[in-house]
Amino acid sequence: MLFNPDVERLPLPQLRALQNARLKEQVAYVHARVPFYRQKLDALGINPTTFRGLDDLPKLGFTKKTDFRDNYPFGLFAVPETEVARLHCSSGTTGKPTVVGYTAADLDTFSELVARSLAAAGCRPGMKVQNAYGYGLFTGGLGLHYGAEKLGLTVIPVSGGSTDRQLTLLRDFRPEIICATPSYAQVLAEELVKRGIGFDDINLRYAVLGAEPWNEAIRTQVQQGLQVAATNIYGLSEIMGPGVSQEDVDERGTGSYIWEDHFLPEVVDKDTGEPVAEGELGVLVFTTLTKKAMPVLRYWTGDITNIYYAHSEKRTHVKMGPIRGRADDMLIIRGVNFFPTQVEDIIAALEHASPNYQVVATRRGSLDEVEVSVEVAEALLRALGLTTLTADVIEQHDALRQLQGQFTKKIKDNIGLSMKVTLLGSGQLPRSEGGKLNRVKDLRHL
Ligand code: ADP
Repeated sequence: MLFNPDVERLPLPQLRALQNARLKEQVAYVHARVPFYRQKLDALGINPTTFRGLDDLPKLGFTKKTDFRDNYPFGLFAVPETEVARLHCSSGTTGKPTVVGYTAADLDTFSELVARSLAAAGCRPGMKVQNAYGYGLFTGGLGLHYGAEKLGLTVIPVSGGSTDRQLTLLRDFRPEIICATPSYAQVLAEELVKRGIGFDDINLRYAVLGAEPWNEAIRTQVQQGLQVAATNIYGLSEIMGPGVSQEDVDERGTGSYIWEDHFLPEVVDKDTGEPVAEGELGVLVFTTLTKKAMPVLRYWTGDITNIYYAHSEKRTHVKMGPIRGRADDMLIIRGVNFFPTQVEDIIAALEHASPNYQVVATRRGSLDEVEVSVEVAEALLRALGLTTLTADVIEQHDALRQLQGQFTKKIKDNIGLSMKVTLLGSGQLPRSEGGKLNRVKDLRHL
């Protein structure tokens, strides 16, 4: 179902014209209202009256996370504080949280785009949604909440965590939809098995997962473990919150639609800042086109992905691939650049590995070391009659020795680094407590 078919199917030339007009307006708006942008645009020699729109976009420079921090808390707002209807903060995954604000009109747009996203995910008016995204300053909980109401769903605002309560509600209220971080959906899937809760005891059909990177192996685990169709929702506070892009339930695995009538996406080279060709990987950059309280020109998200037109029958808007990591997640190990998601890709291709892993970088003397821990797939552990693993146990089983050897070799071959590989039994690695799970620990600077 398309929530707003006219816009979601707008032919590309018209979409471009709309973006062009809105971009010109947004540039004039921030120039008139936000001292930070006025100084910046003046310094770049950009005059809103002669700014040509999309063609001049690269001239605008970038807005970085540090600009938000330098203007903390309200310096980037374009309206008086009395017109700000709500404040949120980013989760602070990569440092001090940034503050973002919305006018009542911005909140309407937010709800519409989340409603569009949920409709694309398979949700239909009349269904119930268990919203396990955190409520509070984080944009996830309330963002999903109001979008779900706008679509006509019944919202169960349980927030993240409290696994006992989540499971009770899944059984008693029988929602068709769960919204959660992928790592928390994994936890719920594992708990169903542990507690002997069958699929007939619950009624889930769809999972809408986002707020952190995930991949096809996690999708398979969640889809099988909760008996749902799981789609990706992406977003970030600085631009809006969840619902900047969304995967269609019938087009899973082919990328997420970016709602281009409100957000102008670009992908640029992480070193030069130059736009890359369609489909190439780089840093995702967004310009808001309709924001009133806190418009942003060319925000450097730090998220690594690609964008491309998939020529789908359903919608015209551009798609983005999965987030391959954040530019600031990149670890430099013994001079080699490496994204922890590269390890994730290797694990996804290993038959007997589960999607639960952790990467820990340490420094011994002057040498960087990386240890990758992965939980062995449940099925293999069961077949071998094992629960916890020790070096001795691994030594005694060919299948485990082979898995360890294969994994070590693939890391060396594909990433070019030797890493220590540790195999673990299920449940040995930390799990999401309801929110984002950090699978990477860089202990070298502690
Ligand atoms: P923070 O940047 O502090 O984590 P946010 O809560 O605004 O604050 O999170 C936005 C970030 O979360 C994005 O920039 C991206 O890195 C990550 N993210 C959000 N949704 C997804 C998704 N579906 N896939 C991968 N990463 C995501």
